[in-house]
Amino acid sequence: MRRVSQLFQPLITIPKNAKIKNTEITCKSQKHLLECGLVRPTSSGLFILLPLAQRSLKKLENITTTCIERTGAQRLALPKLTSAGLWEKTGRIEIGPELLKVEDRHGKKYLLAPTHEESIADLLADVGPLSYKQLPLLLYQIGEKYRDEHRPKHGVLRSREFVMLDAYGAHAAAACALQVYESVTVAYRRIFDILELPVHRVEAPTGDMGGSLSHEWQLKADVGEDSIDICPSCSHASLAGAEGERCKNCGTDMDTFNSIEVGHTFILGTKYSEALNANFVPNNGTAEPILMSCYGIGLTRLLAASLEALSDEKSMRWPKAIAPYSLIIIGPKEGSKEWQSHGWDKIAKLYDSITNIPNLMNDVLVDDRHNMTIGKRLMMAERMGYPTIVVCGKSILDSPPTYEIHDLTGTDVVTHSFTLDQLLQ
Ligand code: ATP
Ligand code: MG
Ligand code: MG
Ligand code: MG
Repeated sequence: MRRVSQLFQPLITIPKNAKIKNTEITCKSQKHLLECGLVRPTSSGLFILLPLAQRSLKKLENITTTCIERTGAQRLALPKLTSAGLWEKTGRIEIGPELLKVEDRHGKKYLLAPTHEESIADLLADVGPLSYKQLPLLLYQIGEKYRDEHRPKHGVLRSREFVMLDAYGAHAAAACALQVYESVTVAYRRIFDILELPVHRVEAPTGDMGGSLSHEWQLKADVGEDSIDICPSCSHASLAGAEGERCKNCGTDMDTFNSIEVGHTFILGTKYSEALNANFVPNNGTAEPILMSCYGIGLTRLLAASLEALSDEKSMRWPKAIAPYSLIIIGPKEGSKEWQSHGWDKIAKLYDSITNIPNLMNDVLVDDRHNMTIGKRLMMAERMGYPTIVVCGKSILDSPPTYEIHDLTGTDVVTHSFTLDQLLQ
């Protein structure tokens, strides 16, 4: 049984304007994650993800993995320590101060990879030339990325080590690249639908990455460092100012909002494959450079961004699908009348019945701090934002006994009364 009393969840209260490890607290997600014991900073832009954050991140990994694999993508794992020589060949060693450089004992230079286009192109070159019959190919991984951000900010929203799901496409022709690009676009939409987050896809410049087409995936949030225009009438969105003050689609005046970039998709062309000799052999002809595409979603950033979008100053609210636990049970206070009729044995039985529901098997928490009032524990559960709170309150003495169910999945907390049978349905 998962008990609150045994959770490794160091709770703290951060006084106003206080700094933690020399870092200012600048946004709600950062404050909640720290105060509620999900994340601890070690130094500027570096964080320990504690057990509750890990649970949430794992759920997010499962959702994104399932959606990306539906496109046919296959998972691999590339070393995070990547040869600096590859980055010299593509010219990106010059992009500068964000690169974290490492040297081994023999003086060989490496980077802690901020992204993996070079590594993938090198792999395709190494096993190539591929036949056109092996294309398109979509490979992805989930893992840490390293960027020496000029100003790490807003906790895990802009950190120096973060978790990304990054995917790389290899294609024989532009039309095929576009097809794969569209299938990943569908996967991204599905991910944000499951999370019930209104993420806007906007056309974006290709920047240092190079290439011919790119979209950013932006989520509205006050603390966002980007800004987007959204049409109030048809919901068309663009990077702020990119398409003028007129909606390109319907002519209505656009509204401007701060936003957080949670994902990015690119068609890269042959910049990396040409520099690193990643070729394929077409149906009839000689080897030519593979067309590449790449896709990234920042998972740790998305976790915090979703809290930023859904929470208020007082309490966290999660997309239901990634709350650290889906349901918490709060038993009566020890010594109360309710405790006499509904003590530890009954709570254990209730826990067993609920965890028999297949998708709740490993997803239920019991707040076993029965020396505390129900009210206090309820406040904490609401602060944590567990989507369903089951309270064994006064109505546990009714016949038949009923439980108070607090549903936190809407904008307001809704309370129902359920018998055990109704609860288990
Ligand atoms: P930003 O504009 O915010 O610096 P980026 O454009 O440099 O982000 P990309 O290179 O497009 O980021 O990387 C893909 C995704 O990785 C981003 O959309 C974002 O979700 C995530 N990401 C990038 N930098 C960070 C960071 N420092 N901390 C957390 N997540 C990040
Ligand atoms: Mg950046
Ligand atoms: Mg960006
Ligand atoms: Mg980007």
